[in-house]
Amino acid sequence: MTRTQWLFFILLSSALVGIGLAMPETQPAAMAKAPDALEDAETGSFEHIPTMTLSVVRVIDDDFAPISDDDVTRMLATAQWMYKDKFGADNVRYADAGVLTIEQFFGTYLNKSSEVYANKNAKRYLVGQDNNFTLHKDSILAFIKQWKVEELTGFFPESERAHYATYDDIYAGIVKQMTEKIAAIGILTSGGKALLRPEKAAFRSFLNWLVALELQDRYDVVLTNTFILYDDISQPSPHSIFGSCKVGGVSHQNTARTALGGRVIMGSTFGMDTDIPLFMETGDKPVARDTRNDVIGAFVIAHELGHAIFKLPDHYDHPPECLMNNSKELNYREGYELLLAHPGPCPRCHPWMEARHHFFEAEFAFSQGQWQPAIDHYNVALKQTPSNVDGYRPRYMAQIVYKMSQAYEHLGQNDLAIKGAQAAVKLYRWDNTYTDWLKTLEARTAPAEQKQN
Ligand SMILES: [Zn+2]
Ligand SMILES: [Zn+2]
Repeated sequence: MTRTQWLFFILLSSALVGIGLAMPETQPAAMAKAPDALEDAETGSFEHIPTMTLSVVRVIDDDFAPISDDDVTRMLATAQWMYKDKFGADNVRYADAGVLTIEQFFGTYLNKSSEVYANKNAKRYLVGQDNNFTLHKDSILAFIKQWKVEELTGFFPESERAHYATYDDIYAGIVKQMTEKIAAIGILTSGGKALLRPEKAAFRSFLNWLVALELQDRYDVVLTNTFILYDDISQPSPHSIFGSCKVGGVSHQNTARTALGGRVIMGSTFGMDTDIPLFMETGDKPVARDTRNDVIGAFVIAHELGHAIFKLPDHYDHPPECLMNNSKELNYREGYELLLAHPGPCPRCHPWMEARHHFFEAEFAFSQGQWQPAIDHYNVALKQTPSNVDGYRPRYMAQIVYKMSQAYEHLGQNDLAIKGAQAAVKLYRWDNTYTDWLKTLEARTAPAEQKQN
């Protein structure tokens, strides 16, 4: 267990001691079952998942194939269909927010004096320079330890797999892979222009994309046609590094956007449009425009929605029906065809879906002022959420215990409300909402305690 994992374990334990043991005797029968038994049960329906209307913008790079109005309509219709087939919900709607040039998008949202930029810039792989990976070794190891060694070795050529028996071996393999791949990309051209030409390089950096996605406050879905280089040295995502160091899509945090619960997603058509063999997601045969749009809708947009809405992580060893499967053996077109051939939800994603079902039930009960059912559902979500989720897990846990704290306060159970607020602050101290809430609760109880003394 890494230091970060230990820290988290301790934090969550204290959250559970405060809230979990206080589960009322009147809990519904289903919740009295052990988590193992619940995992086998059928996934609860998503009838109480909120309708999410997502603001969709296109960010267009004039070096690459365009994305027309008709393209977007087709992509989103396919995304909606695939989302419903895989997740059993039909709660997402789209609103067109128009088109920006890539220069406008980055001109407005890549704020280089922001803290967000400073943090991301410190993790940047510098193209054409010597990069010191050892500075990032701890974070790289913590990142890859989210997966089992067997899952990760699957990324190496079969003849080499025996060399990668430990996380340290895999770290060394990843460093080599990233260095060689980016050196090769540095000399590639598209339409006679260098892919990483200085005029455009900043718009093709994944880290810069993360900054702009996080700082913008208008969009939930960003569609682009540009090439995006995976240049985050601290989190060498296996499917990016071993694929082509190209980013096709992402789910990222954005505190200003509430439609996806503080997330924003991005998807790129570049892999479906390019003729550079390293990046082609079409296999060796050209695809029709409709197919290009269907593949992006299903395999990229619906996949990113799976991250953002259900907190599903990428998986590398799930069955063919899994929309979150990110095996590098498949290009997008093959991945899409596999999904068509294997309709319906992924059985191995069930624990994530079940935990999230309880979260949405809890949110619904909370919105109706049904405090005790809300607490019960939040409790199950807290306990059943798997360790590997999209986004920063302690932040999500903090969000849950904060809502539980509010519900306890409505029930007049101030001690439990305070414990919940304390747990939220411990889990995610960067959100002032939690510290303020804790202070409010403590201020209320202080006079009563003085009286007793
Ligand atoms: Zn993914
Ligand atoms: Zn799955």
